[in-house]
Amino acid sequence: MRIVIADDEATTRRLLRALLSAAGHEVLEATDGEAAWALLQREGVSLLITDWLMPRLDGPGLIQRIRAAERPGYIYTILLTSRDSKRDLVAGLDGGADDYLTKPFHPDELRARVAIGARILALEASLREARDAFAFQASHDPLTGLLNRLAITSHVRAEIARANRSSYPLSLALLDIDYFKAINDQHGHLVGDQALCHVAATLSAAVRPYDWVGRWGGEEFLLVLASTTLDDAVAIAERLRAQLAASPLLLPSGKTLPLTVSIGVACTALPAAHDADPESLFQRADAALYAAKAAGRNRVHSYAGAGEGRGAGS
Ligand code: GH3
Ligand code: MG
Ligand code: MG
Repeated sequence: MRIVIADDEATTRRLLRALLSAAGHEVLEATDGEAAWALLQREGVSLLITDWLMPRLDGPGLIQRIRAAERPGYIYTILLTSRDSKRDLVAGLDGGADDYLTKPFHPDELRARVAIGARILALEASLREARDAFAFQASHDPLTGLLNRLAITSHVRAEIARANRSSYPLSLALLDIDYFKAINDQHGHLVGDQALCHVAATLSAAVRPYDWVGRWGGEEFLLVLASTTLDDAVAIAERLRAQLAASPLLLPSGKTLPLTVSIGVACTALPAAHDADPESLFQRADAALYAAKAAGRNRVHSYAGAGEGRGAGS
């Protein structure tokens, strides 16, 4: 472990360094709380052993600062002090220290207390990893790795709120693979899954860093295009349609499988002021997609108002 020791007495620091280094830890030394605070900003420091009385910033003040800071990982803190009254011990623990040792300390006791800290820290790290993994699983589609419907919907909500504040337009492009059922039926679900991944990868690679891509449903994908007018969104969708139509899926047999998509585009900014809420925007993109399908597929339609679709593409 990377451990910071804060003490203004050189002899205590020397003793701590010798014991902790012998136990396999990396030790960083500070002569007061401010210097310790600076060392704690370094990567990978997770445990602090600190004296109570020190110049500039004392031990309890340092611990208070650590607890108030927003940090990604926990810092386990041990107060090591010659103050040995019950009142001091309680005040130290109440102030945020995880443990309390009095000087002079027994080397084995120090090692044992540091080992407790290591166990708590390992537990905390594994909980954090599990939480991050769950958060990823809850927001991503396992097959394509794209954001799932729940996650992309929450991005749409956030982008609509931002668009309303800034008065920039926001566009959605809803994309559906054409005759996908036939691909499954003729080539099997595995190839169907490959086709989904192929489309997902193409979309991810094509969009700008501040756009969002998600899997909306079975073979439907949603692009969220920030600060994009309807005309620009149609141009982006048309480019993607053409790109996908020109890049067939390579099958294990060596043959290629042509793949086309239909895309419906809708924008928050419309002459006939629609309420810019997610549901109505989704419905408009869906209506435009339906129009693109009805007009023969492999094309882009935009929602131009009162149920009409404007066509683009082949
Ligand atoms: P259209 O051109 O009108 O969109 O026709 P389509 O065949 O693409 O549309 P339809 O909605 O009839 O079929 C969608 C198919 O997508 C049916 C379903 O079995 C398949 N599907 C949905 N999710 C998955 C998946 O995760 N993997 C695979 N392989 N197929 C899926
Ligand atoms: Mg389809
Ligand atoms: Mg569909």
